[in-house]
Order: sequence, then structure tokens, then C-alpha cells
Amino acid sequence: MMAQYLAMRKSLPADIILFYRLGDFYEMFYEDAKTAAPILNVALTKRGGYPMCGVPYHAAQGYIARLLKAGKRVAIAEQTSEPKPGKLVEREIARILTAGSIDDLTLLDDQRPNYLAAVFRHGKKLGLACVDHTTGEFTIAEFADDGQLTDEIARLSPSELLIPDHQTDEFGALVNCMVYDGYSFLPEHATQLLKDHFNVHSLDGFGCSELHAASGCAGAILHYLLHQLRRPCGHLRPPRVRESESHVLIDASSQRNLDLVDSRSGKAHTLLGVLDRTATPMGARLLRDWILHPLRDLSTLTARQDIIAAFLAEPFLLSKCRDSLKGIRDIERTTSRLSQGSGNARDLQSLGISLTHIPELKDDLSSLISEDSALVNALHDFTDLTDLLAAALADEPPANLRDGGIIRDGWSQELDELRSAARGGKDWIARLQEDERQRTGIDSLKIKFNNVFGYFIEVTTSNLSKVPDDYTRKQTMANAERYITPGLKEMENKVLGSEERSKQLENELFLQLRSQVVTHLSRLQETAAAVAEIDVLCALAETAQLHRHCRPNLHEGKDFFIKDGRHPVLEQTLTDTKFVPNDTELDPEDARLQILTGPNMAGKSTYIRQIALIAVMAQIGAFVPAEEATIGLVDRIFCRVGASDDLSRGQSTFMVEMSETALILNHATDRSLVILDEIGRGTATFDGLSIAWSVAEHLHDVIGCRTLFATHYHELTDLANTKVAVANYNVAVREWNDEIIFLHKILPGAADKSYGIQVARLAGLPKPVVERAKAILSHLELHSVKPEAKTRGPKAKDTVQDHQLPKANSPQMDLFADF
Ligand code: ADP
Repeated sequence: MMAQYLAMRKSLPADIILFYRLGDFYEMFYEDAKTAAPILNVALTKRGGYPMCGVPYHAAQGYIARLLKAGKRVAIAEQTSEPKPGKLVEREIARILTAGSIDDLTLLDDQRPNYLAAVFRHGKKLGLACVDHTTGEFTIAEFADDGQLTDEIARLSPSELLIPDHQTDEFGALVNCMVYDGYSFLPEHATQLLKDHFNVHSLDGFGCSELHAASGCAGAILHYLLHQLRRPCGHLRPPRVRESESHVLIDASSQRNLDLVDSRSGKAHTLLGVLDRTATPMGARLLRDWILHPLRDLSTLTARQDIIAAFLAEPFLLSKCRDSLKGIRDIERTTSRLSQGSGNARDLQSLGISLTHIPELKDDLSSLISEDSALVNALHDFTDLTDLLAAALADEPPANLRDGGIIRDGWSQELDELRSAARGGKDWIARLQEDERQRTGIDSLKIKFNNVFGYFIEVTTSNLSKVPDDYTRKQTMANAERYITPGLKEMENKVLGSEERSKQLENELFLQLRSQVVTHLSRLQETAAAVAEIDVLCALAETAQLHRHCRPNLHEGKDFFIKDGRHPVLEQTLTDTKFVPNDTELDPEDARLQILTGPNMAGKSTYIRQIALIAVMAQIGAFVPAEEATIGLVDRIFCRVGASDDLSRGQSTFMVEMSETALILNHATDRSLVILDEIGRGTATFDGLSIAWSVAEHLHDVIGCRTLFATHYHELTDLANTKVAVANYNVAVREWNDEIIFLHKILPGAADKSYGIQVARLAGLPKPVVERAKAILSHLELHSVKPEAKTRGPKAKDTVQDHQLPKANSPQMDLFADF
């Protein structure tokens, strides 16, 4: 057996852990055991001189999930012949499971996609391909710089990322990476494999014939799935190109800072959490994708808005459509499973049930939007299929295919005959108990069944004297004897024979049904995609209605105007207080850079993030939390907020802050939206102020993007005196009896005070320390020029060189950081 094990082990890459079936256990040996035991928290034992560990087969799923989570891959070797004394059981590798290609849905979150990705450099281009094996989604993209590639990887967060073995220096540090055969990435080889697989003469039709780096990645993924994991891939859709020009780019740290789809405080505190009223898992996954890839194409966005508006105008149809959607399950993943030869009768049944809701959904939708729209057309007619499944499948089919009871009575004459033979036999046996009781006079005589002896007659010890001669003793129990008779055995053979044959036949019928379903694969995939989109649009309409979101007027210009805008997430999570709405006016000529000052806790971060979130919402086609909004489409959104520590990367806070700022200055265009919160705080006051000052100037003078700049450096408000399109704003607070009240209202003009001491007291600084701070402050203020309140003054044409920065060592400088 160990020789068989070692041969099998040798056929696999070293890092794959082999689960080797031995009776009721999966065993691991040697290095596999040493690696897996601590992850699985099972005992590592030593038998016959080699390390081993094992897990019971019926609980294997949980253990496999743990290994996949730890980034391991697992091969499952099953026994393929019946155990016979003195003979080695045959074994085969049934599946190789990896985090990126899981097909067991119980191991996955149905709200998010599970991606297997690949990256590859070809000349100057960086390619990326991404497959969700559970749905067949296949996308590719190319990038010119590393930053864009890593940002897209951060958005997709693949569970497994293939990198070519000759480019490990470049890609080896990427999360979840897996080194794979470099040959499979070579464009020529990869293209051929893709052409063969999708049965086309060229990749032109997919728009990727010129994308050599990306095609290389796509080919490598296909190669990996087909040849290393031996997975059926018939359900993969042809690769779709994700054009970076058509999306609003949001880099990885901005995505985090805006809490788009993940937040440390949980899903409810993310934009996804607030918008997600989808009814189907397909819709939930699509909404997530939309939020991570907002669009720049006005016509697509307007089309989405039109549908949302149509739903809002017909609330009855909206709720009808949502009812239909609630009956639809994961068509996308179920179809994929069925097409890969996995999937059981319950999958077929759930597909059948889901499809019965399509006609009504289609009807309702076509009375709302044009009947020829692509969305309506993609909802195909599956009447034949639903009729077939309803007629063929039993009402409650079992999860296990071997259990029988899959097919409905009346569907197959042959099956009905076998079943009635089995039933007849069982009736005969049931009657036998009564007959034998009468014949023998033993009232307690029983006919029983077990897997070892089949049917037998049981007589208690006290009645043994009455046992007739034609009984053959089979087994002696503590207080009973078990017998068989030739008649009973004959009937048993009939019953078991027809049961066995009927199960076989059911299995064949099931396979026929499954292959009939799979002939509709591409129509099912199209319908699933349309359902997902309708679901997302309904969810956005529902959210808009519930939270009073308005339809923003989108345009190609750069004006950005919001009346009574609200933070979509905070507004929903505030419990004690009401959210205070604020207006925003970013005007390319007059006020494209807003400097926002005000004390801590006043609401600066909230306000500036709110604008970025409204932009994201507008550019997925959603309505926005405002009374009115006019939004000039943006091409990128940057959001640098607070001094987020990134100790895991071993960089200082200031270093991280500066590299994020560098990213913005190097990549923002005049169409971008830049949100900056307190840059320059991680260093000495003078350094920090100087950096903040020159960054603001660069954004205003050179890049010309729309910018919101929240800062503690009151000196920056002087920029408004010298720069045409800089405007000062502050957050209103009111002082009352030495208390400070936050009004959360954004007003024109610069803040006049920091209120640092009041905020420090609110935070619970001991009273003596607060009093002492007040004394120091008045002392400092007495001995220095009091910082003047600076409102938006006349625009002069001088530059920073001419401007008077506060002098070093002046006590005034110590006040900048307002505690
Ligand atoms: P800052 O960045 O100025 O320190 P934040 O934006 O972090 O302040 O806001 C502090 C707190 O004030 C928030 O957690 C929130 O509870 C409250 N807040 C902010 N803006 C508003 C608003 N517009 N309406 C109501 N509460 C707000």
C-alpha cells in the first residue's frame, strides 16, 4: 500500500497535500502530515517509522476548507475497488481542490465571487486574467504600470494567483500567489489553447488578439484547470476584456479608506452593505463588482438610471419583480456545477424552480422597459426545460444520488415496474409475519432486516420449542434466535434485485436529465447574467426609495454640485442624532480645490468621504443621497484619509502617507476627484505644512483636478488669496459655556479656532491637564500674533515664495497641530 501511495505522491507537485483514503479515514503521510497536522489541529503520529495524521472521511470537508484557507492545495485519492481480503484496494486521485477553483459550494460565500487569477509580464505590458470557476466568468485586462495591476488585484482579491516560474522575482510577493509552468503563459502557446478550447480560428472576436500579456494569463489559467487540476471547463465563457479606460479607477488604499465593500466594523458600515438589497446571490456578486468598477460611460450609466427611474415610477411592478427574484436561486453556480458533471438532483430541482419565475419577471420587465432591450431579450424561454424537470423529478429528491427516490412515479415505465416489483415483494414479506405467527402460534414472531443477513425471522428464546422444521438458524442472540426460510430468501432476492436495478436506472435517468440541461448552457448563463443585473437595479431602486436618494444629473463636464448631500453609510448607522446634510460646489474655474478647516470631531472626514461615495454611487448608475446632484463624471477617485498605520508592511506611518500622496500626484488627471485628509501630520510641523502646501499647489496649478483638502494647518487657508480656484470652507461649531457643540454644517470661509482643548476635554483628558493646557495656550496667544480668521479674500497673483510662512520657533507653530 505504501508503494502505491508513494507512486501517487510522486505524480503530484510537492506542495499539494494528498488525502489518501484508508477505510473510513483520509490519511496523510511524511511531509504532508507534518504540514497539515498543525493547520488541522490533529495529532501527528509515527507508525512504521513515518509521520502520519488522518481525518475521518465524513468530516473531511471542514478539514479541507481549513487547508485551502491556509493557502494549501489538496488532492483526494479515493478507493476505486471494493476491499477484498489479501488484495490491495485500487485508488485514484478523484479531485484536486485549490482555493481558487473550489467547486463545493458549501465551502464558499455565495455573496462574493471566488477568483483564480494569473499575472504575466510580456514586454512592457502586464497581463491579468481572472476566472470564477463556480460561475464560468472569465475576464482579462492589461496594464502599463505595476500600480494599476496591484490595484486591480486588490479589487478582485483572488483566492489563488498564478505567476509564471520565470517571473517570480517580479510577482513572488503578491498575495496568494502560486508559481506555475512559465511555458503555459507564453502568448503563442496560450492563444492556441484558448482557440482550441473555445473552438474559434482567432481571438479577434473576443477583442483580445492584440492583448498578448493578458491572453498569456488566460491561457495559463485554462492550462492549469485542464491539465493540472483536471477540471472540466466547458462552462467557461470566452474571456471578456476589462478596459481600464472604461472604469473609474480606485486604488487599493482609497478603496479601503472609503469602506466600499469591506470595513473593520462589518458589512453594515460599507457602501455595499447599505446598497445591497439584492435578492439573489448572483445579484449580490454583481453589485459588489459594480461598486469596485464604477463606469465612465455616460450612456451605460444613463441606461441604468432610466431603469431605476422606471421602477420607482411603478412601485407595484418593482415589488412584483422583487418577489419573482426572491424565488430565483443561484442559477449561475448551479448551472456551472451541472455542466461540470457534478451537481445532484437537488441542483436540478432548484434550477427548475428558479426558471419557473423567469416568464413572469420577463413580463413585468417588458411592461416597464422596451421589449427589445437586451435585458428583456436575455431572459430566455425555458418552458420545455421546466416542464421536463417538474415531470421527471420527485418532489423531494435526495442529496445523494445513490439513495434512489430521484425520479417521479410515472416518468419511466421500466422504473415503475421495478418499483412495483420491489413494493410487491415487501408487501409479501410484511404479510409473511402475520401468516407465520398464525402457522407457528408464536405471537411475538417478527420479520426484520439488516444489512448483513438481509431479511430474517426472529423468535424469542421462550418460544424456541414452537419453531417449525423448515426454519434454518442463522444467528443466535442473547435472548432470541434468527432464522431464514427458502421462500423468504427468494423474495428477498427479488426485492433487493429490483431495488438495486431501480437505483441504477434512476441514476441513468438523472444523467440524461442533467445532460439535457447542459445543452442549454449558454442560454442559461445569459439568463443568469440578466437576472443578476435586474436584481441589482431593483435593489438600487428599492434603496433609492427607502433612503430618499435622488437621480443625479450626469454629464461630461467637470461641474460637481450637490444640494443637501448626505453620507450614505453614516446616515444609516447614526442612531442618536440626525445626520446634517451639506451642500457641495466644485466648480472647475472658480472653486475646484476646497480647503476645509475645523476642529477634530466636527465632521470633516465624513464630509469629504461623503463626496467620494456619492461620486462612486453616481458612477455605478445608482441614485445618490442628496436633494439634487449634478455630477461631471470622474476618471479616478483618490482618497487619502488619516494616518493609517501599515505596520505589516514595515513602513512608518509617514512613509505610507507620502507614498500614497505620491501615487495621487503621479496619477491624478484633470478629471479625477481627490480627497485628502490631513496630509503631512506624520512629521514635524514645518515639514508637514510645507508638504501640504506644495501638494495643494500642485493639485491646483498643474493637475487641476477637483480636490477636497481637510487640514489642521490653518495657514493653508491663505492659498485662497493667491489661487483662483481655491475656496475655503469650515465646519461650524458653537461655543456655549466653555462647551463646544458640533453643528456638522459646512460653511464658506476658514475656521477661526482649533478648539483642540475642548475636544481633548470631551475625550476625557484629566481636568488638571486641561486647565494647564488652557493656561499655556493663553500664554502663547499673548506672546504671539493671534492666528487671524481668514476668509476667502481677493485673488492676488503672488506665489508661495512671496507668501509669509510663520517663522520657525514662533509659539504660533505649536498650535497648528491642535493637540
Ligand atoms: P473630523 O474628521 O472633523 O474629526 P469626523 O468626520 O470623523 O470628524 O466626524 C466625527 C463624528 O461626528 C462622526 O463620527 C459622526 O458621528 C459625527 N458627524 C460627522 N458629520 C456629521 C453630520 N453631517 N451629521 C451628523 N453627525 C455627523
